[in-house]
Amino acid sequence: MSLPSVLLLAPLPDFLLTPLRQVALCHDYFHAVDKDHLLAEMGAEIRGIVMAGGSVAPVTLLDQLPALEIISVFGVGYDGVPVEHCRSRGVRVTNTPDVLTDDVADIAVALVLMTSRRLAEAERFVRAEAWSRGAFPLAHALRGKTAGILGLGRIGAAIAHRLAAHGLSIAYHGRQPQAVEHRYCATLVELASVADFLIVACPGGAKTHHLVNAEVLAALGSRGTLINIARGSVVDQTALITALEQGIIRGAGLDVFENEPQVPAALLTSEKTVLLPHVGSGTHETRQAMADLCVGNVAAHLAGQPLLTPVC
Ligand code: NAP
Repeated sequence: MSLPSVLLLAPLPDFLLTPLRQVALCHDYFHAVDKDHLLAEMGAEIRGIVMAGGSVAPVTLLDQLPALEIISVFGVGYDGVPVEHCRSRGVRVTNTPDVLTDDVADIAVALVLMTSRRLAEAERFVRAEAWSRGAFPLAHALRGKTAGILGLGRIGAAIAHRLAAHGLSIAYHGRQPQAVEHRYCATLVELASVADFLIVACPGGAKTHHLVNAEVLAALGSRGTLINIARGSVVDQTALITALEQGIIRGAGLDVFENEPQVPAALLTSEKTVLLPHVGSGTHETRQAMADLCVGNVAAHLAGQPLLTPVC
């Protein structure tokens, strides 16, 4: 009996593809030169989609896959999936939560440390052999500062735990208060106004698009730093560049951008930014655990078993 067909919407690592090929016939839509031809030939047989957190599965594509049953996202963010459309069609959606939480929280803390202590600048200073001409300027301490976390979910809570150990107070904003001891701010502007570090850890997608705008950045103020490890879409990048250029905020530590992998020159050339290439979950250990979960969800579904991590 031939294996069921799945469509790949992203470049995926071998340690995911090798076990996936044990349970499914993989059709590489991402790399296909003639995508229309691939869909015309295979569209009717595709039962699953495997995609990355940053990739998009438009309704126009899903409409050409009448036999589609499951979308398995290799990542926790599923803002590229039209979930309500999938729900209405009975298409299951899965992601890879929890296994990446610690790594992403570590990167958020790294960005807090790199921006406050000017570590990237300091490293460039040594490499440029500038040290022999004088000491590196003073930076800012973490102790006694406030971290304002936008989205106190799995990753947000792990960031809070780590930053509390660094001596920061924690405040947060979400759609509703939680049963935690941290200070809840009913609006994002209120959170920004109490925060020294405004840390974005909520999902991307239409509901959070440009939540961090010029008004929020003004409330963060000239002693404040923006950290984004969530999705570039949550931050109005043009407003961020203006806020950095005009000294409205002190700095920014960014792992994600609005139009990845394109990064505007104004961010690249600024001494006030620390920029990472979306490496939040980028470790061997975590990507392997994510791959296991991603393939495990497809295999469970095809075997008629309950999904390991259902979104819907
Ligand atoms: P999660 O557990 O679902 O937490 C998301 C939090 O965001 C929840 O606490 C939720 O709280 C809050 N939230 C949702 N909608 C909101 C809104 N409209 N306004 C304000 N807050 C809102 O998700 P997670 O596992 O922590 O992951 C968070 C995000 O991190 C993912 O969606 C993904 O985009 C991103 N991520 C990035 C990387 C990376 O490599 N940089 C890696 C993994 C994940 P309420 O329900 O109370 O509002």
